This record gives sequence, structure tokens and C-alpha cells, in this order.
Amino acid sequence: MQIKRISILNEFQCTGADCPVNCCRGWKVPIDDDMYRKYLLEKGIFGTILRCSIEKKEELTAFRSTLRGCPFWGFDRLCSMQKKHGTAYMPAVCIQFPRQLYNLEFFCEETLYLACPEAARLFLVSVFEERPFDFTVADEEAGYAVNTTNDDREFLDYLLQSRAELVSLLKGGVFDSLAVLDYARDAQNACLAQKPLPHPADYASDGRYLVDVNRMNTLFFNGFYHPSLRTVSPFLNRLCKKYIRQFYGLSRRDPAAADRKLARIKERLYQKIPELDCLLNRYFEYFLYTDFLDVFEDYSFSKHLLCGIARAHMLWLFFALYAENRKQVTTEELAKIIAVYERRAPQIEDALRML
Ligand code: SF4
Repeated sequence: MQIKRISILNEFQCTGADCPVNCCRGWKVPIDDDMYRKYLLEKGIFGTILRCSIEKKEELTAFRSTLRGCPFWGFDRLCSMQKKHGTAYMPAVCIQFPRQLYNLEFFCEETLYLACPEAARLFLVSVFEERPFDFTVADEEAGYAVNTTNDDREFLDYLLQSRAELVSLLKGGVFDSLAVLDYARDAQNACLAQKPLPHPADYASDGRYLVDVNRMNTLFFNGFYHPSLRTVSPFLNRLCKKYIRQFYGLSRRDPAAADRKLARIKERLYQKIPELDCLLNRYFEYFLYTDFLDVFEDYSFSKHLLCGIARAHMLWLFFALYAENRKQVTTEELAKIIAVYERRAPQIEDALRML
């Protein structure tokens, strides 16, 4: 099997106890069926502890969340299960994270989830050093199951070509160019009508997809923000509360004033991160590497590309809220913001229908 690995994956090393937001913070830790069966059969005290730590709700089997996150996360900031029983006892998701392993049957792509602060730091270093996200290619056993039900090789090749063209489009412009959405709409329609598929390289536009305060509120309040963030992700929750305090009331009373305020905090952010536009472009580019091939499964060009644009817009908002009242923001701080944000960002999909 041909395995394509993104450059920053080859550089990745977990920072262990020094990690500011360990793997299991901010979301449920799902348990795969194989491991669940193994836990059910485990004998002795460890078996009892395991079974008491599991909750099964509808389709999700996961470890119960405690106030500190996963019940096996120790006070030394390391995984007690891994320390005592080795990786053989960990759910598949814990062994893999932050690697995103995508087996498309014809080849595999391996990338890193930016929900890991060290992965996000490597991403930022590549951005600030203007290094491309190259893929290395190796012939190896995949070692993980096929993730798709589609076997249309021609369509997959088309998506790879489109992704390369979208990345080129980004180099000459901005991530929220309407050209990206025009292409998405036409590709989606062509799929439905079974007509020849268009190419991103044929699209250009001076227009940008504007996210004013109303759209920001739509993204923020329809899935992304939830009061449970207070315990699940306190750092992200503080930034969310700041947004609500500063913008929610004002946007209802005077949307134009709220838009001006949004523009002002972005302007001040440029002073602390002059490379902001480039950073957001590269964030969208990275999103294409981790998410665009999902179109192979659901044919939803518009949903995925709009999602990338929306995610990049919300990201600068969180940077700006954090940077307020600070003289500068370090790469490590930006990486932590990206990591906590990425753990919640998939919820943004719920709001896309309303945009
Ligand atoms: S989030 Fe990343 S750096 Fe932190 S403990 Fe997990 S794998 Fe290691």
C-alpha cells in the first residue's frame, strides 16, 4: 500500500507531561468494539475499574468523563493506563491520536490533527518558516482498516487534482475567496446532474466570503458554544465568555457597531501577528489536506469548503480575543488556542445550513 505522510507528521513527538492540553481533554474518549470486548473479559481489580469507568450511550461507548477529563489521566499528567498496562490496553483512538490515518483503499494518507498542541506548534513553525506541507510516500502495510465505501478511483483522482488546484488558488489569493465557493457550488451541481466536473483552476474572483457579526453569532451559538465547556474546556470557555460579553448584547442592539468592533479587534491582531492572512491561508490549506477527501464519501463540496472558510474565520476570532490586553502572543500560545479550538470546531458543521 502506498502511504502518503504529511511532512509535520515525520517531525512529531509527543511532549508527554509537558503538554498544555493533553489528548483526552475537551472531548469523550471513544472505545472501539475490540477493546470494549477485551475490557469486559478483563479479570481482577483492574477489570472492575475498567468496567466502572465505561459508559455506553446509544451508539457511543466511551470512558466516563470526570472533572479532570479521562478517568485514567493521572496527577503526573500522564496516562495511568498506558504506564501500568502498556499501549495494548488503550483504545485505538488513544494509540492513534494525533495521527489521522485515512485508508482510501487505493492509498493511505496520514496527517496530524491540529487538536494536539504539539501538532499545532509544528504547523505554525512550518507557516512562519514558509515551509510547504509536503507528503512523503512509502510502500508499507497499512495496518488500519479501509475508511471508505466508495471505490470510484476516477473520482478520487479528480479530488486529488482539485485539491492541488485549490492549494494553488490559495497561493495567489485569500482563503475566503468566492472563487472557492463558486467552484464548490458548480462541482456539487455537476455531481448531482452527472455532468463533467469543473476545475478550481478555472475560477477567479475578487469577492470574499464576509463573516460579519451576525454570521459569527450563527457559527458561535449553533453547536460551537455550549455551557458544558466550563468544565470540559475551561480555557476555551473563557474565550467564549469574552466573546459573549463583548459582542452578543452589542450585536443585538447595534449590529453595525458590533461589526466595527470586530474589525477593530482584527486590526489590533494584525499588529501582534503580521502574518495573520498567511496563517489563515495555510490553515485552510491544511484543512484541505485533512478534510477535503471526505468529499469522496459524501460528495458535499459546498459543505466541506464552506466549513473550512468558517473554521478559519472563527480561528482568528479566538486569536484576537486571547491577544487583547497582551503585548505579544507566542507560537506556543497560538498552538494551544488552535488545539482547544480544533477539538470543538467539528461542531461548526451544525451551523453551516444557517449561513
Ligand atoms: S495532545 Fe499531543 S502532545 Fe499532548 S499528550 Fe496528546 S499526543 Fe502528546
